[in-house]
Amino acid sequence: IQSFIQPYLVPEGSAELNKNLEAMAASFAVTDDKIREIIKGFHASMKAGLERDDKDALPMIPTYVCGRPTGKETGTFLALDLGGTNLRVCQVTLNGDTTYSLVQQKFTITQEAKESRLWDFIAECVGVFLEEHDLHPPTGRRSIPCGYTFSFPIFQTSIASGNLSMWNKGFTVPNSVARDVVNLTQSAFQRHHVPVEVVAILNDTVGTLMTSGYSHPDTQMGIIFGTGTNAAYWEKLENIPKWVGEDRSGEMVVNLEWGAFDNATKVLPYTPHDNKLNRKSPNHGLQVYEKMISGLFLGEVARNAVLALVDQRLVFNGRSSDIFNKSYTFDTAYMSEIVSDETPDLSVVQTVLESTLDIPLTTLLDRKVVKNVCNMIGTRGVRLSAAAMSAVLLARPELLTNTVSVGIDGSMYQFYPNFERDLYTVSRVFLGEDFVDNRLKLHLAKDGSGVGAAIVAMTVDRDREHHA
Ligand code: BGC
Ligand code: MG
Repeated sequence: IQSFIQPYLVPEGSAELNKNLEAMAASFAVTDDKIREIIKGFHASMKAGLERDDKDALPMIPTYVCGRPTGKETGTFLALDLGGTNLRVCQVTLNGDTTYSLVQQKFTITQEAKESRLWDFIAECVGVFLEEHDLHPPTGRRSIPCGYTFSFPIFQTSIASGNLSMWNKGFTVPNSVARDVVNLTQSAFQRHHVPVEVVAILNDTVGTLMTSGYSHPDTQMGIIFGTGTNAAYWEKLENIPKWVGEDRSGEMVVNLEWGAFDNATKVLPYTPHDNKLNRKSPNHGLQVYEKMISGLFLGEVARNAVLALVDQRLVFNGRSSDIFNKSYTFDTAYMSEIVSDETPDLSVVQTVLESTLDIPLTTLLDRKVVKNVCNMIGTRGVRLSAAAMSAVLLARPELLTNTVSVGIDGSMYQFYPNFERDLYTVSRVFLGEDFVDNRLKLHLAKDGSGVGAAIVAMTVDRDREHHA
């Protein structure tokens, strides 16, 4: 534990400041032993979730996606990707040679859409896209078939339907929980005269898994480290006792919903700063793993931690600002800028604190402390991220003798400093150096959720044409 604490101390600061930093660093530390405990907890929770729907276990949602992509799929498809921050509408072209291209338009999801008129918002955006790209139903059809990536937990009832389990990532749209989100979306399309039919719905992690699999056939897992976090992996049907289908011979993608890990078990090292965030969130007590890992929350944990030092008059001379006093004003993107600031006077940190957040006149010591606090929380995040990834791979030990590709997307993976490097480094301890150095391949599945939606939609549409 001493090795976790040391790097965060500031020798030129007061004894009291260092005492507080020491305690804070200890509370954010995730030791190797802790990770072993988390991995064990993951395995128990995965097993329970595969056996039955149990609110205390991981959801382990069967996705109805059973066929691995071959890389030979061809054609052009419409895809919708509803994320936690953006809605992307894309036209995806699969070239059939493991490559793809896409035309996409990104719409920032408005606060109003997150709280109330989401379905109409989606229909309006799709309408705009169809108009701007002059898209119409193919000849002989009344609507354009579309794959729909949905970045919230749904209990699927078929490849093209699923009931919303709950909102998270700050969404609170009423009258949606327990309802079929394809229906809700499709009704909005009708209201807005948008000629689109959702033929497949999938979680964004499933899209990422499929996209990575299109280019790398040895892909076993898809992960999002972004605004939220989650993963999907290939599981043998014989290992999914709760799956009710007759054929148990093949495999199916399972959506773990790992953000929900520890909702019930409480093995994670919660600090008062986590508890404060959790208590104020609309999904209090839920998605607690996600709240320690993902981009929506890390900045807020850091803000809480820095404010605790302000209240003790240990930084900023005891003063905050109106902006910094408001929840969620300390974006995780600022953390990225701060932890990568190597200038001697920490001028990047200074700009963020003084210009962006309006904190008056910081000292170099203040800036060092803020940088160290951000590092504690970022390091905890990446260690917990590696713990989750390792747990899932270790749940299928037979895979580890071959090369394993993992498709990953999301803002943390793409933009948080050294995130990928640290994922590899931390995983080595638990997955073994030989496997990590020689056989584990992490790939950015860029825009994976949209492309994956097109791949799945294409498969479904092809099967339907066959049966028609
Ligand atoms: C959702 C998941 C999603 C993940 C990444 C989580 O908040 O529950 O369904 O895959 O975010 O977007
Ligand atoms: Mg996304």
